[in-house]
Parts: sequence; C-alpha cells; structure tokens
Amino acid sequence: MTTATAAAPETRAFEAEVSQVLHLVTHSLYSHKEIFLRELISNASDACDKLRYEALSKPELTAGDADLRIEITFDKDARTLTVRDNGIGMSREEVIENIGTIARSGTRRFLDALSGDARKDTQLIGQFGVGFYSAFIVADRVELVTRRADAEPDAGVRWTSGGSGEYTLETVAAPARGTAVTLHLKADEDEFLEPWRLRELIARYSEHVAFPIRVPKLAEGKPTAEFETINDASALWARPKSELKDEDYQAFYRSISHDFGDALTWTHNRVEGSQSYTLLLYVPEKPPFDLTFSGRDERKGLKLYIRRVFIMDASEQLLPAYLRFVRGVVDSDDLPLNVSREILQENRLLAQIRSACVKRVLDQLEKLAKDEPEKFATFQASFGGVLKEGIAEDAGNRERIARLLRFASTASEGDARTVSLDDYVGRMQADQKAIYVLTADSLAAARGSPQLEALKARNLEVLLLTDRIDEWMLGYLREYAGKPLRHVGKGELDLAPADAEANKVAEAAAEPLLKRLKELLGERVREVKLSHRLTESPSCLVLEEHDMALHVQRLLREAGHALPAQPPVLEVNPQHPLLKRIEGETDAARAGDLALWLLEQAQVAAGVTPDDPAGFVRRMNRLLLETPAA
Ligand code: ADP
Repeated sequence: MTTATAAAPETRAFEAEVSQVLHLVTHSLYSHKEIFLRELISNASDACDKLRYEALSKPELTAGDADLRIEITFDKDARTLTVRDNGIGMSREEVIENIGTIARSGTRRFLDALSGDARKDTQLIGQFGVGFYSAFIVADRVELVTRRADAEPDAGVRWTSGGSGEYTLETVAAPARGTAVTLHLKADEDEFLEPWRLRELIARYSEHVAFPIRVPKLAEGKPTAEFETINDASALWARPKSELKDEDYQAFYRSISHDFGDALTWTHNRVEGSQSYTLLLYVPEKPPFDLTFSGRDERKGLKLYIRRVFIMDASEQLLPAYLRFVRGVVDSDDLPLNVSREILQENRLLAQIRSACVKRVLDQLEKLAKDEPEKFATFQASFGGVLKEGIAEDAGNRERIARLLRFASTASEGDARTVSLDDYVGRMQADQKAIYVLTADSLAAARGSPQLEALKARNLEVLLLTDRIDEWMLGYLREYAGKPLRHVGKGELDLAPADAEANKVAEAAAEPLLKRLKELLGERVREVKLSHRLTESPSCLVLEEHDMALHVQRLLREAGHALPAQPPVLEVNPQHPLLKRIEGETDAARAGDLALWLLEQAQVAAGVTPDDPAGFVRRMNRLLLETPAA
C-alpha cells in the first residue's frame, strides 16, 4: 500500500459555519450528551441502508460480507469508543463534502434558531443534520476511517480533528469497507467505557435500528473477542400490531425522528389489495422549531422502503405540505426498486399510497378528537395552525379538515380554542343564515371589537380567529355544512332591524350627519354609513367583502409589501352621544377634531395605528381638557 499512503496528510480548515456549529454543539449541548451515540448509530444505519440499495444493481459490492451490521467497541486503556459499520463508506471527496462542509441552506437557520436553552437546542441537532459533530460533546479528538464499498482496499481515508477549526485528511489502507468512527473521550467521560451503560443507552435510543448492533460479549463483566447482537434489528413496521407494545412504537418513533419527546399518536396499517404496502405514521407531540417557516420547502421524516429496502426520504412525494409534521415509514411491496425521485412524482401506485397516507392521518386525528380530547388539544396547540393550510391546499379533503379545526368563540371562555364548526352549527339559531367569524391580532382585540356588538345583542355566536394564516384560510373556506362563513367586519351583514319602514326613516334621518362626516373626513374614508353592527360604540371600520383585514394589511406593510392604500368605510352609530355632539357642533374646527377622533378610535379598535399618531394624541388631549371637570 506504500503508493497510496505516501501522500502526506493534508490539513484543511472547516467551513466557517461548521466551526460555528461545532463550537455550539460542544459548548451548549451538554445536557443530553449521550445522544452522540444515537447520532453515530443512525449514520451507520443510513450507511448500511445505502449500501443495501446500491447492491441491488451491483451485488459485487457486498460480496464476501453480506451481513450488514454495526459494531460498537471500546478500549478502556486508550479511552476510546468506536462505532463501526460495514455500510457504503465514503470517498475522499465525500468526506470533505459531508464532514467538512455543511452544504445545507438550513445551517444558517439552525444557528439563528439556537435559543441558548440547552434543552431545546439539543433537540435541534438531529433535525439539522449536524449529528456527526455531536461526537465532540464527549470527545476531544475524533478519528474517522472510511472506505467506499466500490473502492480498492488501499483507498481508505482517515479524517481526524480536535473539533476546533481544522481537520486532517490522509489516504490509508482500509481492508474492510465502511466507516469506523473512533472517539477519544474527554477526561470525565468514563461512563461511555462501561459495558452496561453502553448497552442501556443503545437500548434506549437505538433498539429499533433495523440492522444488528453488536457489542463484545462479556465474561465476568469484561469484554471478550466474541460479539453479540443487542437490539431487535428487525423492521418494526413489518411486525404484526398484536406483537407490538406502545413502548415499542415510541422507541421506534424516537429512533426515526431524532425527537426526544414522545409521539402523540400513530397509525399502523397493512394494506393488501390491488397493491400491498405498510404504513406506520406518527404525529409528534411537539412541533420542530422550523415547522412553519422552512418546513414547507425542506420536508423530511417519512421514509420510503420497498420490500424492506430503504429507498429515500419521501415526505414531499407522500405527504402534502399541511401534513409535514407527520413522521414514519411507508414500505411498498409493489413499487419498482429502481425508482428515482422523478419517477416517483408521477407513479400511479405512489399516488394511491399518498392518498392513503392523508386518509389515515385524518382518520387518526378524527379518532383522537373523539376519544382523547386532551391529546387532541395538544395536537391543536402544536399543529392546528399548519393543518389550516390544508383548507387551501387540499380541496378534496376541505370539509374533513375543516371539521378538525378548533377556534375560540364568543361562546367560549378565555384563550381555549375548543369550538369546532360542528359545535357552532349545532348551536345556530333557527333563522341564522351564516357562520359568523372575526379575525384579529389577538384574542383580546377580537373580544373587544365593536364589530361584535350587534351580534352579541342578538345572542349570535362569533368565532374568533387570531392566527396569521386565518385571513388566507377564510379565502378558501367559504362555507361549511352548507352555511356560508361571514366575516363580521366585512361587507353587509344583513343585521338591519326587521322593520323596513322604520329603517328607512332612520336612514333618512341620519343622512345629513353622514354627509357632514364625509365632508369633514374627506379622502380618509371611502364612505360614511349608518351602522347596524354597533350598539355601544360610536364607530367602527368596515371592509369590502374581499378586502384583507386591517391588521393583516399592517403586517404585510411592515414586512415590506407595497399594498395599495384602501380607504376604509366608516360606520357610525347615530344614537351615540358623540355623534349627537358632532351633529350639534357649530365650531367647524372642533367638529373636524371630533370627526377625526371618531375615525381614529375605530382604527385603534381594529388594530391599526392612526396615520398621525402624535396628532391623534394632541387632539384627544385638547378634547379632554375642553370638557369641564365634574
Ligand atoms: P446527517 O446524517 O443528518 O446528514 P451528519 O452530520 O450526521 O448529518 O452526517 C453528515 C453526512 O456524512 C451524512 O449525511 C453522510 O453522508 C455522511 N456520513 C456520516 N456518517 C457516515 C457513515 N458512518 N457512513 C457513511 N457516511 C456517513
């Protein structure tokens, strides 16, 4: 091997972001330090999966050593721990690419997302694929020796690093294919040299890895040269449900999701028919930190197997974006093993599996809603907002998804989102034509909104929607159970008093006042109208049916979007003393102040800052001081 090893070791610097991640990993992620073992075993298992897949078309890759496995050994004297696999291995370029750089757009977000709270941050490690670096939590030097399955025995690569700034690469002889990662443990990490402690950790985190994990057999507490397998090493999803306990499902969940928490619920089905497949789908308890933002673009966590061979992560092919929180395994008997991502996009069998996944998840959520309300509430808190995307995204399941949504309402107390559309419809008044909803910035803003007054006075329930996505969702959720959804702050509400004659009289009486207000306010308002929404407040803003709610317009403007200015419609309550006062006001300047004050307080109530906030305060003070002290 002298020719290959003759090249001198080469020292290279980590990419700047790798150094930063490494630093963070080793300094802040100490609270769950034992997860390095799970991460290394998980990488080893992935490497075995990849080799098994490649060997389908190139059987020579596993010739002579077909039993894929992971071995964990340690040397107490040298204080080293080694995780070895006989999987796919890496070439020199791959080592540089995979271990020396973090070629993922997510890294920046990972760094931004770290909270400084070690517990939370630890959870991010696995999600972000910085798993390998977790070795440096417990090791002050890590050595990786690897050889690709299709490379010559003298074309191994040794990578070593102390975890700060740089690493060394060397070409070495490596008779066996695969990868061995050796950790030189830090001074106080002796626990990882204890056989029983190691076995316990492997059982906790990696019991359901689908390849045998082997450790030296013990004789009188001391390791021997013989190995034994200590995990289950079978494909859990392929076993009959009756054999599996909840703990088994949870342990498997943790090994595939890199989550420390539990799964909230799962559904495990074997489907036989025109095509056969197995689904094991989990809903986590807690959302990953990036669920709402990057989550839509980089979806991960649903593994596609074909007859037990891991093919690829197929979240994007098998789940719509609004179910991106689902984790699990799909194992197909019928898909061709040589599938590529492109083929998957339009494969008919896969399209069937995809709709089965959606159906099973929705079934499971319905079951949870019915049988386990507490867990369903947890689901709502974690993923209720994401599920709403389905209203727009999945027209075919719109009604089913809508049935799973929960809202706050004028008929419910506090912050709890517990009211379903079915609850609402069940309570509707006999002659009630619509499901009334209100969107606002916060629940407090919603509950205090003047737009609720007339509905309250008539005992009409209103659903209170405070998620950012709600306005958008309402654009697609036009009706439920045959009843239209009406935004109480938009358009005509059909709440005029039943007596049409009296109504006409009232409108005629208000006419001069409305005209005067419009003159006083000018271009600031589109129109001034007599309100049927108000009973207590003097004024409120009303939008056209298809206008975006004002608080949402504000958010978009703040985010830099140029929206056309849309002057609002001001509705007023002529019965209110303030309106009487304007009506009787002879001083033009004071009438102007009062009219503006009417508009501005309606803006404040709608969550919008008046155009001239300081002027608003000045005018208010002027008006207050004019009022004689009682
Ligand atoms: P992740 O596994 O989430 O991608 P890691 O930092 O753990 O992130 O690993 C980075 C990459 O290094 C892996 O994606 C894989 O390509 C490669 N790698 C790590 N460990 C092994 C191994 N034992 N065998 C082959 N490749 C490996």
